[in-house]
Amino acid sequence: MANKIIEINFDTGWDLAPAPESTSHIQLKEQYELFIGGKWIKPESGKYFDTINPATEEKIAKVAEGNEKDVDKAVKAARKAYNEVWSKMPANERGKYIYRIARLMQEKARELAVIESIDGGKPIRESRDVDIPLAAAHFFYYAGWADKLDYAFPNRKPQSLGVAGQITPWNFPLLMAAWKIAPALATGNTVVLKPAETTPLTALKLAEIIQESGLPDGVVNIVTGAGATGAAVVNHKDVDKIAFTGSTGVGKIIQNAVVGTNKKTTLELGGKAANIIFEDAALDQAVEGIINGIYFNQGHVCCAGSRLFVQESVYDIVLRKLKDRMESLIVGNPLDKNTDIGAINSKEQLTTINNYLKIGKQEGADMYQSNCNVPKKGFWCKPTLFTNVSQSNKIVQEEIFGPVLAVQTFRTVSEVIEKANNTPYGLSAGVWTDKGSKLFNMTSQMRAGIIWGNTYNKFDPTSPFGGYKESGFGREGGLHGLKAYLKFD
Ligand code: NAD
Repeated sequence: MANKIIEINFDTGWDLAPAPESTSHIQLKEQYELFIGGKWIKPESGKYFDTINPATEEKIAKVAEGNEKDVDKAVKAARKAYNEVWSKMPANERGKYIYRIARLMQEKARELAVIESIDGGKPIRESRDVDIPLAAAHFFYYAGWADKLDYAFPNRKPQSLGVAGQITPWNFPLLMAAWKIAPALATGNTVVLKPAETTPLTALKLAEIIQESGLPDGVVNIVTGAGATGAAVVNHKDVDKIAFTGSTGVGKIIQNAVVGTNKKTTLELGGKAANIIFEDAALDQAVEGIINGIYFNQGHVCCAGSRLFVQESVYDIVLRKLKDRMESLIVGNPLDKNTDIGAINSKEQLTTINNYLKIGKQEGADMYQSNCNVPKKGFWCKPTLFTNVSQSNKIVQEEIFGPVLAVQTFRTVSEVIEKANNTPYGLSAGVWTDKGSKLFNMTSQMRAGIIWGNTYNKFDPTSPFGGYKESGFGREGGLHGLKAYLKFD
């Protein structure tokens, strides 16, 4: 008799009993205001936008749309807090607040994880095991540095910049906010954060945590809205630093906007990472790394391993193993703990991905999609791979930001280095080989800010993260992440 719980059905993948995470413990308001000067303030425009659940297309909450006047209020609040409180506070006291925020995030981790999944569409396993613990870890890590800046940069007299304007994307909403807020606070700066319009809720929950932590009013301000709100932050005259994570297109607009100003800037932009499998690699582990690299978070990952290079001698076996593994991936309810691939973040993003699938076919590539079922409502994309592609294809050159892999082969080390570097981006890469020397040879010749060896998508607050070329400049994380918020004599 078939086992009801673990029944393998090779047509549709693993057929597991549903294991949904409860939503009864989460507390969300119907309407969110702007968080300015430690208070919830109505937007000047009186306008609100809906944030929806991409897995159900249902509205979750109404969120205030901040305009230039609201951004100005937030910058003034941040400046006042900087001048009167935060820059004068002993560094070890600042550290205590940052620790407190980290502890509160841990206490509310389950609630934050569920909200991240319903607002953004990512599987609960990922928001629970990756996004939220890592976000808290960034606050812990930078809290530790707050009173040790003179040791981090000996004889250099590190000084804070002032008010930091920070703009984040929708793929790791709370984690990106943590990457930016934690080092800014540890270095004595105050903050105006503009979260992405499709995923504002965990940043607003963070505002509640910040209130609960007793952080002085105005040290962190959160102004929700879309591109125009972000532009108002970038263009505000009294902002000393811009930290942006998002698309290369918007990154270029921001870079133009800050030219001729004194604003220190970091841009974390798009990517088109090469994941390279040599014939001497542990192939089963490598296949897991490929899956993790591109299908993790629906491919909504700037460092996604979206270009796979397989050494010709193992191409057939890797492709077979990869397709078998793709068949076992479960696409569906982000709140189900069995789910591997959740919902695409928005209708617009799904349209972008579907356009690339069309382009890939028009370019003559062969498309393969897993045989899984997807829910009728919501935004979904089956795990997809393209073979028979060439270097010049759009699906090989452009960032798709979805669960779509382009597979190519190579024979020699020099060939794969040239192919891997043949992209406008330079954010990340993966190399799978049994030989340490080969790995180090590759890492020294590849133009990518982060290169994983025999693993993929591993993050840690102590490691700097950032790109080359059109993937941006500046680093976040680790000591480098502190430097981006400091000036030196
Ligand atoms: P996006 O550039 O469309 O938006 C990012 C943020 O910028 C949002 O908050 C948006 O409202 C705001 N924005 C839009 N127009 C603006 C303007 N003119 N001025 C100021 N702010 C503006 O990007 P997205 O679609 O939200 O995110 C996906 C992109 O982010 C991908 O390209 C991905 O690779 C990149 N990303 C990079 C990293 C990294 O660390 N390098 C990390 C995550 C995501």
